[in-house]
Amino acid sequence: LFVLSACSSQNPQSESAEASEGKLLTNPEDVYVGFAIDTLREERWYRDKEALEKAVEELGGSVKTLAANGNQEVQIQQAQLLINEGVDVLVVVPTDSEGASEIVNLAHDAGIKVISYDRLITGADLDYYLSFDNVKVGELQAQEILNQTEEGNFAYVGGAESDNNALLFREGAMNVLKPYLDSGAVNLVYDSYTPGWDPDAARDQLTTFLDSSNSQLDAVIAANDGTAGGVVEAIGNQVGEIAISGQDAELDGVQRIVEGTQTMTVYKSIDLIANRAAELAMQIAAGEEIGTDSLTDNGQIEVPSILLDPIAVTSDNIEDTIIKEGHLTESEIYDTE
Ligand code: BGC
Repeated sequence: LFVLSACSSQNPQSESAEASEGKLLTNPEDVYVGFAIDTLREERWYRDKEALEKAVEELGGSVKTLAANGNQEVQIQQAQLLINEGVDVLVVVPTDSEGASEIVNLAHDAGIKVISYDRLITGADLDYYLSFDNVKVGELQAQEILNQTEEGNFAYVGGAESDNNALLFREGAMNVLKPYLDSGAVNLVYDSYTPGWDPDAARDQLTTFLDSSNSQLDAVIAANDGTAGGVVEAIGNQVGEIAISGQDAELDGVQRIVEGTQTMTVYKSIDLIANRAAELAMQIAAGEEIGTDSLTDNGQIEVPSILLDPIAVTSDNIEDTIIKEGHLTESEIYDTE
C-alpha cells in the first residue's frame, strides 16, 4: 500500500495504526469514515461536509473528507486514497454518476461498503443510496412556476447531465409540465443541461439562445440556485418579470426570493441527510442490520434506499422552514448591507 506507507513516514503517529490493522487513525478501534465529495463550490456541500463530520464524531467515529473539484479522475484517486487509509465505510457524492461505479468496485475489492450520498452511483453493485426524493424536487419546481404562470414560453435550465439527480429533476419537472405542453398552453422554447452545474455556463448558454432567437421568456425552471443566478444575469432587465425556480435554499437564492427576482427554491435539510448518513455509516461499520425504506434501480441492481422529503420555499414560508430550522438566520437573509 504505497499511499499508506508514504503517509506513515510523514506521520509517526500512524505507525501503530498501520501495524495493528492498516487503519490510518491514532486509535484504530474507532470507526473511520471516508467522505468523497464532488465539489465544495455550491454553498451546500461545505455544509454537508461540516454536518457529516460533526455527526460522525458525535457518534464516536472519525471522518476524512476529500473534495474532487468536479474532476472525476481526481475523485477516483481520492477514493483509492481513503480505501488505502483503511476507512470502514465510504460515503460518496459522485462527480459522475456512471463513472463512480469504479469507486464501488475498488471499495468492494477492499471489503468496504459504499453509501451514495445525495447523488446515485449508477451501473454498480452499490450498497446504499441516501438522498431526497429528487423527482419530487423537479415536480415542486415546475408546480411553483405554474402557480405564477400557466402559459407562455418556458425555458428549462438543467443541471449537469453526468449527475443522475439532474435527470431526475428534469423528469419531475416534465411530469408536471406535460399536460400544459400537450395542450399547447406552455411552449418549451429552451431545454438544456448545464455542464458541471456551472452558473456561468448556464448564463452563457441562455444568453446565446436569447440573442439568437426572438423568444420572449415567461418562466425559467432552473435546477438549482446556482444556475438560477446565471439565469438572472442572462435575462438582465427583465428580472422580476420572469418566474424562476431554484434549489438548495442558498443565501443568494433566498435573498433573490425576498427581493422578488426568484420565485422559489427547494429546501433539503442538510442536517437531516448528514445525520442519517452518519448513523448509517456507523451501523454499517458495526455490522448492524440496516432498515431502508425503498429500492432504487441504478441500472445494475435494486439499491436499498432512503429518500427524504424536499420542501418548496417561496416568500410565504421562508420563516416557517429555513429560518425555523436554523438553516439561515433572519439577519443573514434580511440585513443585506
Ligand atoms: C444536488 C443539488 C446541487 C447540485 C449541484 C445535485 O446533485 O442534489 O442540491 O445543487 O447537485 O451541486
